[in-house]
Amino acid sequence: MTRTPSLPKLHKRSATFALLALLSVLGLLVSCGSDSKDTTSTSTVPDPNRPLVIATTPILGDLVRQVGGDEINVEVLIPLGADPHDFEPSAAQAAQLRNASLIVANGLGLEERLESALDGAEKDGVPVFDVAEQLDPLVLSTADEAKPSKEDDHDHGHDHDAEKEPAQEEAHNHGAEDPHVWLDPERMATAASLVATQLATTTGLDAAPFQERAATYADAARAAETEARALLAELPADQRKLITNHDALEYFAQRFNLEVIGTVIPGGSTLAEPSAADLSDLVALIEANNVKAIFSESTVSSKMIESLAREIGSQVSVVELSTDTLGEPGSPTATYPGLIVTTARLIANGLSGR
Ligand SMILES: [Zn+2]
Repeated sequence: MTRTPSLPKLHKRSATFALLALLSVLGLLVSCGSDSKDTTSTSTVPDPNRPLVIATTPILGDLVRQVGGDEINVEVLIPLGADPHDFEPSAAQAAQLRNASLIVANGLGLEERLESALDGAEKDGVPVFDVAEQLDPLVLSTADEAKPSKEDDHDHGHDHDAEKEPAQEEAHNHGAEDPHVWLDPERMATAASLVATQLATTTGLDAAPFQERAATYADAARAAETEARALLAELPADQRKLITNHDALEYFAQRFNLEVIGTVIPGGSTLAEPSAADLSDLVALIEANNVKAIFSESTVSSKMIESLAREIGSQVSVVELSTDTLGEPGSPTATYPGLIVTTARLIANGLSGR
C-alpha cells in the first residue's frame, strides 16, 4: 500500500508542484483511513498497479479524474494557474510521459510548447488522445493575422468540415482551429464520453463504469450551462459584446449568444503581440460599442489590456476571468461547473456595468 513513488517526478519543478505533492500525500493519508470505494473525493489513492493516465491541463485532468474514478491514476502536467499556451515540461516530466497508459491532451495547438514531448511519447507507443479535435472545432478568425508569414500555407489541403473523424495525423501542429473547446459545456459533455471510451480501450477495463461517470460529468456540465444561461439572459442584445485579452471565449460566446468583437492579443494563442494600430483600432471599437467591461485572463499578463483601459478612461473596467485553468481548491472556479457559472456571472456583471 505504499504508492508515493509515482508522484514526485512530476512535482519537482516548483514550489507549486511541491505544495501539490504535499496535498496529494495528505489526501492519500486521509483516503487510507476511509472506505476506498467512496469516490466522492477528487484525490484517488494512487495504486502503482492501476494504469497511469496523464492529462495536460488542469481542466482535462479534472475531467479524466472524474471519469476514471478509482480505476486509474491521474497526473496533470500543467500546474493550476499556469498558461497552457506557454508551458514547457521539464526533462523529468517529458520522461514521465512515457510511463503513461494514455495521455489526454487538448490539441489544436493549445499545448504549443509541450508538442515535442507529446510527439516523443507517441513515437514510443504511448497513445495520445487529442480531445479538442473530436469536438467540432471552430476555425480561428484571427489565425492569419497572427501568422502573417504563413498566410499562404496555413490551410493547405485542410477541409475543416471533413475533420470530424478520429485523426492521429498532424494532431499536434494544427494551428488554424480554436483550441478553447472546454469553454463550451456541451462540447465538454461530449468530451467526457469520448474520454470514457479511450480509457476503456487503452486500459482494457470495463467501459460501463467510465461511461456512467462520464454521464454524471455531462449532467453537471449541462446544469452549469443552464445556470450560466440564466445569468446572461438579462443582458440586452447591444450589451452582449466581448473584448478579451486573448481569443479564449469564442466557444463560450457561441454557446451563450454573445459576440467576441475584438481581442488584444491576435491569434488563438497568448504568444503574439498586438501592433500599435491594432490597439488604436480596439480603443475605437470599445468606444463605438460603448463597452463597459473588457476581459483579461488569470493565466496571461494583463499589462496590455490594463493600459488599453487606462487610455479609454473610467467608463471601461477590466474584469479578470479564469479561462484557461481551474482555480485553487476552494475558489469559485476550482471545479468545471464553477468555472462556467463564474465566467457567466463576471461577464453579465461586467457588461451591464455592475
Ligand atoms: Zn487560451
